[in-house]
Amino acid sequence: ADEARIALDNLVDRTGDIFHPTLRLGVTGLSRAGKTVFISALVHNLLHGGRLPLFHAQADGRIARTYLEEQPDDAVPRFQYEDHIAKLVEEREWPSSTRAISELRLTIDFQSASGWSRMFSRGRLSIDIVDYPGEWLLDLPLIDKDFSTFSREAIERAKLPGRSGIAEAFLRELASVDPAAKMDEPTAQRLSKSFASYLRAARSDNTALSTLPPGRFLMPGDLEGSPALTFAPLMLDDSATYSRDSLAAVLGKRYEAYKSVVVKPFFRDHFARLDRQILLVDALQAINAGPEAVRDLEIALSDILRCFRPGRASWLGSLLTRRIDRILVAATKADHLHRDSHRKLQAIVHRLLDGAIRRADFSGARTEVLAMAAIRATREARIDDGGEELPVIVGVPQSGETIAGETFDGRSETAVFPGDLPSDPTSLFTDADGKAEHADPIRFVRFRPPKLERNEDGLTLSLPHIRLDRALEFLIGDRLA
Ligand code: GDP
Repeated sequence: ADEARIALDNLVDRTGDIFHPTLRLGVTGLSRAGKTVFISALVHNLLHGGRLPLFHAQADGRIARTYLEEQPDDAVPRFQYEDHIAKLVEEREWPSSTRAISELRLTIDFQSASGWSRMFSRGRLSIDIVDYPGEWLLDLPLIDKDFSTFSREAIERAKLPGRSGIAEAFLRELASVDPAAKMDEPTAQRLSKSFASYLRAARSDNTALSTLPPGRFLMPGDLEGSPALTFAPLMLDDSATYSRDSLAAVLGKRYEAYKSVVVKPFFRDHFARLDRQILLVDALQAINAGPEAVRDLEIALSDILRCFRPGRASWLGSLLTRRIDRILVAATKADHLHRDSHRKLQAIVHRLLDGAIRRADFSGARTEVLAMAAIRATREARIDDGGEELPVIVGVPQSGETIAGETFDGRSETAVFPGDLPSDPTSLFTDADGKAEHADPIRFVRFRPPKLERNEDGLTLSLPHIRLDRALEFLIGDRLA
């Protein structure tokens, strides 16, 4: 019955009002990939007539008005656009990142480009931007896994060489509990907490590992502390039967609850209604952390992309009445590199997605890869290094950042030699003897957000970016044609 209701909702969503078409745009990516910054920059540039030469509707002067409207879903938090912009523009600090799902409706009144419709119609398109953590997508494979399979895989993963350090405390805790013992809340909480801190440690800057369900353990949303989030994998004996009040049985039940009250509703109520999707990828962070993090990111992206094109016979596939028809994979924070390296960054992300695209059936969906900076915090320059011209980027490093022993105060502009990416992406994934190799790390310095820049008209101010207009053109341009 639920599924039938969804199908009906989707039909109404899509065809509801022919005079007021809507487009649901999903924005996702693992935490700190740049979702909040992307949405803020996109909306700001559209509301304030930003410099977007490759976004045709705007460049051709066909956009009459852009404005925010009441979002359609009353039960979803609103994306806090005004707060984020105030932080970015007034304080020149980065806004707080995505923690859960949020939504914002942006409406564009435009004139159609084609002769016929231009005579007859002014168009109106509402874009419902849906921001959600990519971690949540990593939960899809759990739907088909029972508690013992989940437990076995999670524990095997925790024991992998690259993880044993960060997983040590959890594995010790795990070894001390008997799954057959009577359920005891403090034990369950202790185990669950140490499992969650292991997952979080794996995501920290230095390790930057990505493939770690359950996603809500990293991004709990408003469910923190609920039984559905208070479980952990257990070392189960498949031949044993566990009594109903055992730790194994109760945690198993909570795992099932996690799937039915957390995972399924998200896919059903939000994910299944998306028309277009942008997936933001912070490849630079993974590259800096080394080949293991890069491989791990590759697996995570492949799991994420699989959600966008599920098999028809799968649980998710059977739920979808609409299909995502455009997917943009954007390598973010390209402003940390010199322009000469953007192509290489794009090639690396292409290579990261190779496997995923080969495995999933992407027929019917246009997929594009782009190196982008939703907000460009740097500008490019060349400095003379003893007769040799070196490409550098110039920006204000955040207070506390260091390069070569120098610590910055967050106030002065500095030129940074950003380092280069290899022309052959393969070298990032492995090295000759299979050991972790930190090739030539990119100098990844966090810069403060830039000042607003004056546009060609000399009047309007907007947030500088790199290829945000290309992204917009791909994601919504055809609907404004
Ligand atoms: P989220 O977790 O996906 O919402 O990530 P955010 O949008 O909050 O971005 C995380 C951090 O990455 C920000 O605080 C910035 O430091 C950085 N960042 C994101 N996008 C950009 C960008 O376009 N340029 C630069 N220089 N930094 C960015």
